[in-house]
Amino acid sequence: MVTLTAVLRPLASQLHRQLVRRAGGHQGNGRPGVQPHGLLQQICAVPDFSPAVTLRDLPAVKLHPMWQGPLVVPGGDRQSPIDIVVRKSVFDSELKPLVTDYDPQTCQQIWNNGYSFLVEYDDTTDKSTLKGGPLQDKFRLCQFHFHWGESNAWGSEHTVDRRLFPAELHLVHWNSDKYSLFEEAVMEDNGLAVIGVFLKVGRRHEGLQKLVDALPAIRHKGSVVEFTRFDPACLLPTNTEDYWTYHGSLTTPPLTESVTWIVMKQHIEVSHDQLAVFRSLLFTSAEEEVQKSMVNNFRVQQPLCGRSVRSSFTPFLQEAPSTEDDKHTH
Ligand SMILES: [Zn+2]
Repeated sequence: MVTLTAVLRPLASQLHRQLVRRAGGHQGNGRPGVQPHGLLQQICAVPDFSPAVTLRDLPAVKLHPMWQGPLVVPGGDRQSPIDIVVRKSVFDSELKPLVTDYDPQTCQQIWNNGYSFLVEYDDTTDKSTLKGGPLQDKFRLCQFHFHWGESNAWGSEHTVDRRLFPAELHLVHWNSDKYSLFEEAVMEDNGLAVIGVFLKVGRRHEGLQKLVDALPAIRHKGSVVEFTRFDPACLLPTNTEDYWTYHGSLTTPPLTESVTWIVMKQHIEVSHDQLAVFRSLLFTSAEEEVQKSMVNNFRVQQPLCGRSVRSSFTPFLQEAPSTEDDKHTH
């Protein structure tokens, strides 16, 4: 059983500071993450939180050790992930289509960081960028990664009306109009933009396969191999006009609340076998005696704390008039 207490036990391990440093493709300055101060639960005890959402009803999901540490999180009321409640999302006609302009030549390497695998891009220039949507500025792609479960019944970080997906893709971008380095942007308001895409099990994803084929080479924590010419646009759904957006945080330490989340309404399909290769990766390094499968590498859900989730589409405006309405108008 996943309890609220378990939910609120993240810790900023050295490893995940490294994750953030490495993600930018630069040498970090060793700047520590946000200083933990107090419980999220105390800061934001509002009734719009459904604790632990759907995971509560699942058989015991063994959370990653990162979420079993001391009971501290960065103070804040804009944490991620969240449950997206479709009927409570607010249509915003100002939300424009996303404009992605990715150069596959900027793809550099793939890395098992002990929590997920990261496909890293050269972000020293504006060659792979994201604009539009809810964003005022231009954001540079630095890496993408996935979160997934041990079974197909769960694995995503965000949920839609409490529905879990087997996996979720995160394309991480930083604001290159306002900041000069990822390390700077990650600490600041409006510093990051992350696109979230849900994965469902179905047909094999041809674009993903090149990535899947590279995974056996980075089975152990700490392994890095060259990985080039991969176009991340192939992992976006065909419809990128319909999305939800909200202000939130990173879902790994330092958990900074610097993220404009853009969660795609349309999912992509991958095969069970492709996800099985994700699950064949290991949290552990080659030297460790007991090897641990890389599964359930997600953070559980966080309180909404009065935030609104905006949608770029209008699911309910097209309803046909009811018979009752007809009576009044005739
Ligand atoms: Zn992520």
